[in-house]
Amino acid sequence: MEYKLETRCIHNVEQKSKNQPFGAVTVPIYQTAMFSHPGIGESSGYDYSRESNPTRAYLEEMISDLEGAKDTVACSSGMAAISICLSLFQTGDHIICSEDLYGGSVRMFQQYEERGLHFSYTNTSVLENIEKLITSATKAFYIETPSNPTMQVTDLVALKKLADTHGILMIVDNTFLSPYFQTPIELGADLVIHSGTKFLNGHNDVIAGFLCSKDQEIAKKIRYLYKTVGSCLSPFDSYLMIRGLKTLAIRQEKQQNNAIQIAEWLGSRKEVVKVYYPGLKDHPGYEVNKRQARGAGSMISFAVNTKETAEKLLQNVQLITYAESLGGVDTLITYPMIQTHGDVPKEVREHLGITDRFLRMSVGIEHIEDLIKDLEQALQ
Ligand SMILES: *Cc1c(COP(=O)(O)O)cnc(C)c1O
Repeated sequence: MEYKLETRCIHNVEQKSKNQPFGAVTVPIYQTAMFSHPGIGESSGYDYSRESNPTRAYLEEMISDLEGAKDTVACSSGMAAISICLSLFQTGDHIICSEDLYGGSVRMFQQYEERGLHFSYTNTSVLENIEKLITSATKAFYIETPSNPTMQVTDLVALKKLADTHGILMIVDNTFLSPYFQTPIELGADLVIHSGTKFLNGHNDVIAGFLCSKDQEIAKKIRYLYKTVGSCLSPFDSYLMIRGLKTLAIRQEKQQNNAIQIAEWLGSRKEVVKVYYPGLKDHPGYEVNKRQARGAGSMISFAVNTKETAEKLLQNVQLITYAESLGGVDTLITYPMIQTHGDVPKEVREHLGITDRFLRMSVGIEHIEDLIKDLEQALQ
């Protein structure tokens, strides 16, 4: 029987049929570093928890199922997942990226640049931009859609055609929409990255990451790197992730519903100059996002009229928390220029519009009237 995603977040059908000791309904936390061997040269299926652990394996199967992946590794952070992904490449390889990636990814790419990988950044919502940058050394496209924080939308199906023509790997960081709204492997991605810290966990209490592979061959390489490097998620954090995932669908729906209303409200304010939200009809990526995703999510960026307005808002919000990160049940607001994108070169930030008037909000599940009231009083 084929279940819908909401159901699959709660019941991992394949795993349920395997016997849990004592018939445990919730996956137990196997807080153990190693497993005894049943006989000489034999294995229970698990030997050492750096390589694999039953609690984590259950979580990995869940994520593979939700993303339509052959295999997934659960990592100690989103950055650890990105680091394993970059280890697949060799000196001299060239990667074409969305120009406004998560700031931590840009920082990591700068490190790899010193070790001989090359990165080009462009607005990947315009296919010709990417085409122009392809060389014989180009090995991958690295995409965020919608991008962080200016919400550029990249047409993944069109990009896949280009990737196939040139034999290029397509990597998508799907953190912003999660598999509830978007499944990049169905659209052609070879690898999907997640900061599990964000929507997948949803409760702002775990740091985690995932790297999902479309096919077995690349998954094997990743498994090898994973057990070698050891950036694995602990059994307890794996359990918290499983727990968080059960409510993914209901959280995402409510968060999106709130986000649409906040985006519209911001658009009606005289202090707000521009709203970046792919769920608004006047957003340049609205149509493409609608075609390839099942929703626009709950991340909103916006520009206000002055630096003073931005500061006033950050300092005066009471219910909404001024903090980095995103995707949880609590509404957060951040100042990308100095927080999430502080390490991005100034010229790049200004080109993207990440100025001292630019703010980013991650909308939570609070009552919409309370959120709007808070924004209203902070602007007063
Ligand atoms: C947060 C984030 C990351 C990094 O993940 P961590 O779990 O913080 O290491 C990567 N990509 C995106 C889009 C993010 O938002």
